[in-house]
Amino acid sequence: MRELDISIPMGSRTPEWPGDKPFSCGWTMRLAAGGSVNLSAITTSPHVGTHADAPLHVHDGWLASHELPLSAFAGRAFVCSVNPSIDHVEPNDLPSLPSRGPVERLLLRTQCGVAGGSFPKRWPVLSLDTVRVLLGRGLVLLGVDTPSLDGLDSKTLDVHHALFRGGAFNLENLDLRSIADGEYELIAYPLLVADLDAAPVRAILKPCATE
Ligand SMILES: [Zn+2]
Repeated sequence: MRELDISIPMGSRTPEWPGDKPFSCGWTMRLAAGGSVNLSAITTSPHVGTHADAPLHVHDGWLASHELPLSAFAGRAFVCSVNPSIDHVEPNDLPSLPSRGPVERLLLRTQCGVAGGSFPKRWPVLSLDTVRVLLGRGLVLLGVDTPSLDGLDSKTLDVHHALFRGGAFNLENLDLRSIADGEYELIAYPLLVADLDAAPVRAILKPCATE
């Protein structure tokens, strides 16, 4: 079955959040310089490229990167486009989402992300009402193609808090540019890095036969 890669690289060409530590790579050893191997050493915020936030990111004592539950990060997922010009996504702004039934995983396609190579100035954000409605339908994972679930200037990170308090998790910086709305099989396990506020993710969609 065809795999659709919806990941953005953790790399030096991926724009980081303004003020965040960009990805950079130094070399401890190079073959060309007479070393026995090529050996890299990286410095980066874990939020560069596609990643899952750990709840620890917004609250001391909440789960860290190695404690993210695998079950949230694989399974049926809906991709839903929203109008890129709206600020707050209300339940009615998700026309391609089935109006009833469970929604365990939702990937929000705003086309306002870093996939095009520059950091966006703004992007649509789910309203808290929409988060509540989705949690009520069984949401365990909210993925976005934007750098954050919350807005660029948010200091209170209300959507992060509401999602984590509801027992759900997130993916940020997805590349959904070429993905059509619909239902897919998602595989997006966080890397097992210890004690961080986020973990890099390789996110893959597989089309699923719908009845
Ligand atoms: Zn993040």
